[in-house]
Amino acid sequence: MGGTPTDLKLIDENGRRLDGRRPDEMRPLRIEAGVLKRADGSAYVEWGLNKVMAAVYGPRECHPRHLQNTERALVQCRYNMASFSVDDRKRPGPDRRSHEISKIISEALTHVVFTEYFPRTSIDVYIEVLQANAGTRCAGLTAASVALADAGVPMRDLVASCAAGKVSDTVVLDLGKEEDNFGQADIPVGYVPRTGEIVLLQMDGDLTHEEFDKGLHMAVEACKKISDIQRDALKRRYSARTQDTEIDSTERSEAV
Ligand code: UDP
Repeated sequence: MGGTPTDLKLIDENGRRLDGRRPDEMRPLRIEAGVLKRADGSAYVEWGLNKVMAAVYGPRECHPRHLQNTERALVQCRYNMASFSVDDRKRPGPDRRSHEISKIISEALTHVVFTEYFPRTSIDVYIEVLQANAGTRCAGLTAASVALADAGVPMRDLVASCAAGKVSDTVVLDLGKEEDNFGQADIPVGYVPRTGEIVLLQMDGDLTHEEFDKGLHMAVEACKKISDIQRDALKRRYSARTQDTEIDSTERSEAV
């Protein structure tokens, strides 16, 4: 969030944004489930210029052991941004921002996973941002919940996530990089469509109550659409898996 350079117009006279989107328009989103062989579950998300990979391991024995909870599983997320994911090379390794994002994503996912089914275990979620263009925490959370479902982890529902915000005094959906840098506010939202719960909500910048309500409503509506895209990715993955099994069993019966 910050002042706009004088020559940068975030919204033009026709109400279009820098990339031609209308205020309530999301960037194109593509999700693929089950992309990594060695993880228990995985998902790859391309969202505008963001490219994010999520991998899930577990439920497995929780390490370090003192973190074990005798009542439930621990959902531990590690969000990491690759050095080459941004314009100015990012210094490798964890920092304050990545700790914060890891924590809020862990908390959001803990709300939907039936953690009580797996006492003493850990469900480890790794989010790797390969290319960043604003909105990576939303893309990461969206990818992570598909990866959890792909790993067969029982959940109340998938979490879908999208940000709204304010640029040039207009409430907009899904901020791009320049809008994030030079806009007036950013509100990332994580939403559970089946229960209507909001499991992630942050706000950076200033908004009136009306603008906040409008932005939140926009983000929630977008999350409902994102949820459909997440489900489609899992359905495609499931049908591909079923076909693989059918091919396997045909080959086996032919061999007999
Ligand atoms: N960013 C960057 N270097 C950093 C951190 C962030 O260039 O070390 C960029 C990146 O494109 C990111 C954007 O700033 O997507 C917005 O970052 P923010 O902290 O708002 O999180 P995000 O919107 O990605 O969830």
